[in-house]
Amino acid sequence: MAKIKQLSVHEAQKIAAGEVVERPANVVKELLENSIDAGATAIALYIEQAGKQLIRVVDDGCGMSLDDARMCFAHHATSKLSSVDDLIKIDTFGFRGEALATITAVSHVTLTTKEADTHEGIQLSITKNKIIEEKVVPCPTGTDISVKNIFYNVPARKKFLRAKETEWRQISQLFHAFCFDYPHIHFKLFSEGKQVHNCPATDTVSTRMTQLWNHTNADQMITIEGLEEKNINITGVISNHQYARYDRNQIFFFVNKRWVKNYTLSRALLKGYMNVLPHSKFPAACIFVSIASETVDINIHPRKEEVQFLNPRIVERAITQAVKIALENNLSSHIKQDVTFASADYTPPPMNQKQDWNNTQFDFPPVHRQPSVLNQSIDAEPFTDIPPIPANKTITQQATVQDQIQTTVEEQQPDTNFNLIDQFSKTYILIEKPDGLFLVDQHAAHERILYEQFCKRFEDIATVSLIFPQMINLSPADIDLLEPHLNLFTDNGIALERFANDQLIVNATPVHLKEISLVELIKQTVGWICEQQSATPEQFTKNLHNKIRAMMACKAAVKAGDILDKQQMEQLLSDLEKCPNKLTCPHGRPTGLLLRQHEIEKRFKRIV
Ligand code: ADP
Ligand code: MG
Repeated sequence: MAKIKQLSVHEAQKIAAGEVVERPANVVKELLENSIDAGATAIALYIEQAGKQLIRVVDDGCGMSLDDARMCFAHHATSKLSSVDDLIKIDTFGFRGEALATITAVSHVTLTTKEADTHEGIQLSITKNKIIEEKVVPCPTGTDISVKNIFYNVPARKKFLRAKETEWRQISQLFHAFCFDYPHIHFKLFSEGKQVHNCPATDTVSTRMTQLWNHTNADQMITIEGLEEKNINITGVISNHQYARYDRNQIFFFVNKRWVKNYTLSRALLKGYMNVLPHSKFPAACIFVSIASETVDINIHPRKEEVQFLNPRIVERAITQAVKIALENNLSSHIKQDVTFASADYTPPPMNQKQDWNNTQFDFPPVHRQPSVLNQSIDAEPFTDIPPIPANKTITQQATVQDQIQTTVEEQQPDTNFNLIDQFSKTYILIEKPDGLFLVDQHAAHERILYEQFCKRFEDIATVSLIFPQMINLSPADIDLLEPHLNLFTDNGIALERFANDQLIVNATPVHLKEISLVELIKQTVGWICEQQSATPEQFTKNLHNKIRAMMACKAAVKAGDILDKQQMEQLLSDLEKCPNKLTCPHGRPTGLLLRQHEIEKRFKRIV
């Protein structure tokens, strides 16, 4: 029996559609490009269910005649070229004449359109590339196109659509990119009937940034005036040294006006911020690279989302240079100084710190560098010696350093086989032990203690209701991303809710975090959620919990510079003794250091 069958035209179209349309954001891109090609000055994008249910684009462009409207869904139907020569010359968007044909192969489309010189418009309903309804309607000049139930007839592809928030994020990022690329167009974005962004036409990208990122301060943005080097021109807007995010979501690159995702370009950008931004923090940036078209290949990706440069190094260098110059000009006097960052958090010391210690001539005991607890299973080592605090217990007294140190009700006798000497440099606790002088890093030690408590008291964590709830301002897009994951915070004793489109409210926190701003923790969590998108749901929850707890511990722990009295130091030491991973903090730094008696005596030449 013959095995080879020819697919029906419609089946073939459904397969071909996958090349152009893999997810809702691809449809959005094609529709927005068509509106821009049609000369629109105002474009509104309506999304429902992250585009799975509805993608609608309304523009005030040139519109289509009745004949064109009927024709535009046919394959290879385009008003933008007529020969292969044109195709080679054309330097605008993707495949020609295929977008609407492929979109209508996998969804239900309604098109309403009117040209300026007619009084009435036309409305067409198309399913499976066939016009099933056609009517004359009154409508404004321009085009209104609705794409419903994407992949309703391609279950295999529908199944591979990601979670709603992932698809939404793709659309939102794409919308941002269009807004930056075409600041002279008035863009609006709606989701589930609510307006998310309204960006009136402007001349500058920095105004766009403030329109889109509600809490971006225009003063913190620097314009790159245009660096011309070897026929490469770099322009754009970047954030200054005071602005930092925990994710790369505010980094956009455009090559010859085309939005591209390119890792090496963002690496070049970050290189420009070296010594300006702390490690693991990211700037906001919209960078426009313009380059001779023969030195860039835009055909390496079916939807032209990536590019390949003939000389990537030259482009990277130009970007790094442009960023460095812009930052230096902005802050010429400060840049080489030891800048303190308004948003800077505790940053783990550089990896060579351990080396420095080893370089001294003391013989330290080997630091048992356990794998970071962040990667460990939290129940790997049972932790039994801290009695759980009853559920719903609410502590209302003022949290002081004393309270922070007196972390637990101890039943077990602390290890008394040491003699506490004193605090050194307001950072280390000095202890005399039988085998030598022991230094404990008070912050690292307290971090470990609190981290273990947060893990242990996962279910019945002691919380405080805040008399003055903390309000946290964040972009609506970041809150959309966080909202389905708010349980990550409630699981850890932080009662967090959406308060407004761009505001969260913290009603309660664990007692140790009572006085501490949670802004950074919440912003950092947005970054972690983005990073962990490909993890399995179990892994996602586990990783996020561990990261959140480690940061909570870091925030709540006593800091270097806090003066501790004897009782507080003793409490801290005995609490640390009981921790299962007492040798390191949750980030993997050692909590203590032993200077052996033998070595000390050798150094004083008491012994040889
Ligand atoms: P292409 O954009 O490559 O020409 P499409 O399938 O995206 O192919 O669109 C087909 C044609 O439909 C376009 O060439 C244009 O003439 C017309 N068209 C599509 N969208 C619009 C719009 N929003 N306004 C006016 N004309 C449009
Ligand atoms: Mg098109």
